[in-house]
Amino acid sequence: MPQRAIILGSTGSIGCNALDVLAGLNGEWDVVGLAAGSRGRELGRQANRFRPQAVAIASADLAGELEGELSYSPQVFAGSDALRQLIDAVPFDTAFCAVVGAGGLAATIRAVELGRRIALASKEVVVVAGSLLMPLARRTGATIIPVDSEHSAIFQALHAGRREDVRKVYLTASGGPFRTWSAEAMDAITVEDALRHPTWDMGPKITIDSATMMNKALEIVEACWLFDLRPDQIEVIVHPESIIHSLVEFCDGSMIAQLGTPDMRTPIQYALTYPARQPCLSPPLDLLQVRELKFHPPDRERFPALGLGYYVARRGGTCGAVLNAANEAAVELFREGAVSFHDIARLTEKALKEHEFKESPTLDELLAADRWARREVTRCTAC
Ligand code: MG
Repeated sequence: MPQRAIILGSTGSIGCNALDVLAGLNGEWDVVGLAAGSRGRELGRQANRFRPQAVAIASADLAGELEGELSYSPQVFAGSDALRQLIDAVPFDTAFCAVVGAGGLAATIRAVELGRRIALASKEVVVVAGSLLMPLARRTGATIIPVDSEHSAIFQALHAGRREDVRKVYLTASGGPFRTWSAEAMDAITVEDALRHPTWDMGPKITIDSATMMNKALEIVEACWLFDLRPDQIEVIVHPESIIHSLVEFCDGSMIAQLGTPDMRTPIQYALTYPARQPCLSPPLDLLQVRELKFHPPDRERFPALGLGYYVARRGGTCGAVLNAANEAAVELFREGAVSFHDIARLTEKALKEHEFKESPTLDELLAADRWARREVTRCTAC
């Protein structure tokens, strides 16, 4: 029996790669559902190729565009609740969640409630709602397998020992395009500069998050939730080559690392085939070509976003929702030219410090904190 997969966020960078990986896994997988936020025509073309029984689009006004492209008649869900409706309507084994930002939250929670396997590329979902998702997964038996390259590495390295023997996790960071820029040069960063990542080819939101190192801040929070770690057990280390994807240090001083070509198809495939491994589309790593691996401490003054990650990981509660939403809103404004590069971390920090903190929020309270933070960032920009 082939494994049945639903891809949430199939038209984004990770979603497209996931479909390529699935197509390469020779008939062992059946794509039963595809969902996207806004690219109706692209979603229609993907559906024609993979023939899922249902498709979902979050923008209701793009349903016509989607249906116009379809060459067969799958069930179509449209509107803000479409992704969750798809999860409910179609029987599946694995939900691959690659929605940009926190838009995949409701659908992911539903998949966890159903006790299925979730291949999780949307770190935002864990950052916002880790306090609800992780206990829920323990109750329902859902398996959450990270797709984020660092967290995939940690997940793999943790298999080398007992959880109680873990001393520390080293979260590697490429450092982004501004790693070697002076503080003065960083004052004049343009959107184009921020969209040029040295080692990874990714979508625009995460590329800008890598440039501010907000991506690493989100990943600190993500790692704490996924692996039940304390914030002080996580150390960010800049590793410009992006060959070591992260390391786990055990109590005897042994460090276990996962290395590979910086290519998202490897962690995508591992999340699908785990615990099995299969030949992958990404080219194998040639260590003699790499020759050198370098490590630096991160510069927390030039990249203040990092400190926000630790702050949020320590405080928990509604902080994750505010961090994520404020950053998403600020990145949007930066891309529109309305705020500067430095403003992204500044506005996010302001929203974090000024929001009405709740220690054990419900989903509704998390969503309210999310909405408040987006409004607040936009308001602060206007004034
Ligand atoms: Mg990552």
